[in-house]
Parts: sequence; structure tokens; C-alpha cells
Amino acid sequence: STNKRKSTNNKKVVAVVGGGLVGALNACFFAKRGFQVEVFESREDIRRAKIVKGRSINLALSHRGRQALKHVGMEDTIVSNGIPMHSRMIHSLNGTQSPIPYGKKGQYILSVDRANLNKELLSAAEMYPNANLNFAHKLLDWNTETGAMTFVRVDGAKEEIQADLIVGCDGAFSAVRKQFLRQSRFNYSQTYIPHGYLELTMPPVNGEFAMKPNHLHIWPRNTFMMIALPNLDKTFTCTLFMPFDKFEKITTGNQVIDFFQEYFPDAIQLIGVDALKRDYFRLPAQAMVSVKCSPYHLGDKCVLMGDAAHAVVPFYGQGMNAGFEDCLVFNEIMDQLNEDFSAVLPEYTRIRVPDDHAIADLAMYNYVEMRAHVNSKWFLFQKYVVNFLNMIMPRTIIPLYTMVTFTRMRYHEAVKHWHWQNKVIKQGLFACAAVCLSGGSYLLLRYPPKMLYVLVEQLWTRLQDPKNPS
Ligand code: FAD
Repeated sequence: STNKRKSTNNKKVVAVVGGGLVGALNACFFAKRGFQVEVFESREDIRRAKIVKGRSINLALSHRGRQALKHVGMEDTIVSNGIPMHSRMIHSLNGTQSPIPYGKKGQYILSVDRANLNKELLSAAEMYPNANLNFAHKLLDWNTETGAMTFVRVDGAKEEIQADLIVGCDGAFSAVRKQFLRQSRFNYSQTYIPHGYLELTMPPVNGEFAMKPNHLHIWPRNTFMMIALPNLDKTFTCTLFMPFDKFEKITTGNQVIDFFQEYFPDAIQLIGVDALKRDYFRLPAQAMVSVKCSPYHLGDKCVLMGDAAHAVVPFYGQGMNAGFEDCLVFNEIMDQLNEDFSAVLPEYTRIRVPDDHAIADLAMYNYVEMRAHVNSKWFLFQKYVVNFLNMIMPRTIIPLYTMVTFTRMRYHEAVKHWHWQNKVIKQGLFACAAVCLSGGSYLLLRYPPKMLYVLVEQLWTRLQDPKNPS
């Protein structure tokens, strides 16, 4: 028999499937609007579990995510538990470290603990009397005709539950999305990148951070890289991103040390030889998938958000931020269209698909930029040019990273603006080069080299002593 969850007021019942980062935040958004919210999470309550299985230990929170947290009154709590990172700290092979700021003075991203963030959001959702958390409820399937969802409990028992709206926040391998795949005109693509990731811990040294804490440390090595984000307990979580075939070639502790000696020599002592030999093999490298789909809704019954709608590779630090912004955008549309699901859901798809697809593409682009481009002098020169132009024309030329990370400019508009300004800057540089070249040629033709030499010499003397009229 189907259990129709009832609301205590006359508001509709919203089932949020997945109590991860986006699901827990979304529960707060819907509860704040007064809906009866039922969260269904396949895991046990992580606030009571000893070991929390999940992806990365910490993540970078930025403006979009913060704006969404602010809406449900959670920004300050989360920010006070985060560590500001003002720049990327590039570690070269010889051990020198050079910072590349993320934005202007005062602009930074925050390293936050994933488990703590998730726990705080679950507790915030639970504070609403009209929100209910159902753990150990794994969605098996749902019926697109009736909207009835089938859950399986830990003991194998099945339960059928019905709600007015299903919000699929069940991550990259979403069970809610399975029904979308059976629909006509549903576009779907998934791409695994050849790289995997592995996490290592860098302990404190004499009770202090082993490296400067207010940076995101990067060891870019062209075809692979390692990064490190600080944690509140003064450790760093290092993440090694590398092609799977390279991971597979390293099979013994000594090979790990040889590999680190060749590419990350400065990290060996900081992680510790024994820890490195042991922790490298603790877990196999994890895969990374990029998922794009469209539409994000099915009739007026179901909508996908977060990784369920758009899993992106982690190289722009935007996966969670984009998922949090999904909740904010949906909420804005609910305001505009008076909570009429039959109008809100298609509008959400119309607005959000181009933006989430744009951040998925940008994350793929940054996959190369982070590990390879940051090593190139031409890339750094271009960055300086953009930063300089941004200083004199702050509204016209804006670094892409700034638009993505420190504003709520729609992702697809940020990409459009970036293409436009790249064209303008290239044309500007080309025009400068052309003026220099034609000016130089004119001078060469007008004044033969010898005369030109005399002219330059006279000019030089005059510059050195303006009073000398010779
Ligand atoms: P998830 O976090 O995957 O949560 C889904 C939830 O649904 C889980 O709790 C799961 O147990 C539950 N669930 C799954 N199936 C079912 C089911 N059938 N029934 C019920 N419940 C179910 N993003 C950033 O913004 N900044 C970063 O710096 C960053 N770094 C990252 C680093 C790495 C290595 C990786 C892999 C990702 C990173 N991300 C980052 C991306 C970020 O982790 C995701 O975008 C974010 O976790 C998405 O949240 P979500 O709630 O949509 O999905």
C-alpha cells in the first residue's frame, strides 16, 4: 500500500531524495516556504555514524554557494568553520612556491569540511517543524504516472511513499533520473575522464600547519597534478589527480617514494615517508564523471538538482556551488510564478540548463588549465593583461575566474563575456603589434639605419640632460 505523506498545513508535500549537500540545503529552502518536506537518504544519519563514506574530505565554497546558504541563514555558521584561501600557491619542481591570487585583495574562496557542512545542513533542516528526515531509505524507483516512490530499507523491506513533488538530489548516479532516461526527448550524456583521484593527509608540524594555510596549494605537472586544501585541525588534505594507467603502474611503497621524489619532492617530508607508503594504497583511486542532461523536470511531478542534474569534474571548485545555486534559482522562480509547479518546473529547466551545461564545460576546460597552463609564461602574461585591464575598466574586462567564483553572473553569460573579451584583447594586442611594426618600418624607410642611429643617440642625450640643446 502507498503511504501518502500528509502535510500539517494545507501546503503540498515535497519529497527530497538524497540528504547530501544539495538535498539537505534544498530541504531548508522548501521548509522555509512552508511545504511539508520529507527527506529520504539512503545512508544512516551521518551525524551519528563513526565513519562517513563519501567523496572529497574538504571543498572550496565560494560566492554562489554562500548566497544560497545566506538565504536559509546558514552562511555565518559555515563561513566561521571555513579557512580562507586567497590564492593558488604554485609549487614548482625545485620547491619554490609562487602565489597567483584568485581575485582582488579581500576576495577568497573557503576550504570547508564536507562532512561538517552536510551535518550542519541536516540539523538546520531538522529545525523546521514541517521537515522530516528519513534515513536508511534508498530510492529504488518511482512511478511517473502516480508519483509513487519505492524505497528499500536496510533490512530489505520495501516501502511505497507518495508526495506532490519529487526533488531528485541523489547525486551523480541518481536513481530519480533513471525514469527520465525512459522518456522521449530526454538528452543525456556522461563522460568519465581518464584521471582518477586519491587523497592523502599532511599532518601539522609542531602543532602548526605544515605549509602556509591561506592558499590552495597546487603542484601542476602538466599531465597530472596534486592539490592541497587546509583543514581546521591544521592538517592539509592533498588530492592527487592522475591518469588511471599511471596510478596502476605504482604498486609498491618504494615506487610511491620514487614517484614523489621525481615530481613532488617537497611534499615527501611533509606527508611523511611511512604515511605516504601506507596511505597511497589505503583506497583505490576514485573515478570522476561529467554528466549533462536536459530537461531537468518531468511534468509537474519531478525535478533534478545538484549532481543528479549535472555532475561536473571538480577542477573549477563549482560542483557544490552550482548545486547550491540551483536551490536559489528554483526558489527565485517559485517567487515569480507563485509556487505553481506546472509553470515553475519548465521555467527552471529553461533558465538553468544553459548555465549548468556552461559550468560543466568550464570545469572540463579548467581540468587542463590547472595542471598545465599555469606552468606557461604566455598564460601568466595573458592573466596579467586581463588583470591590468580589469583595473582600468572594471566593468568591461573581468577575469573569467572572478565572474565564475565571485559573482552570480549566469554561468553561460560569463562564458559569453569571456569569449568576447578574449577577442577584444587579442585584437587589441594585434593592433598594438601592428602599430609597432608599421611605425618601425616607417622609421627604417624614412631614416636609413645610420641616420636612425644618430637620431636615437641625439634623443637619448637629450633625455639624459634636457638642458643640453645639442
Ligand atoms: P551528493 O553529495 O553525491 O549527495 C547525494 C546524496 O544522495 C548522498 O547523501 C547519497 O547517499 C544520497 N543517495 C544516492 N542515491 C540515493 C538513493 N537511491 N536514495 C536515497 N538517497 C540516495 N564542489 C565544489 O563546489 N567545490 C569543490 O571544491 C569541490 N571539490 C570536489 C572534489 C572532488 C574530488 C569531488 C569528487 C567533487 C568535488 N566537488 C566540489 C563537487 C561536489 O562534491 C558535488 O557537486 C556535491 O557533492 C553535489 O552534492 P549533491 O548533494 O548533489 O550530491
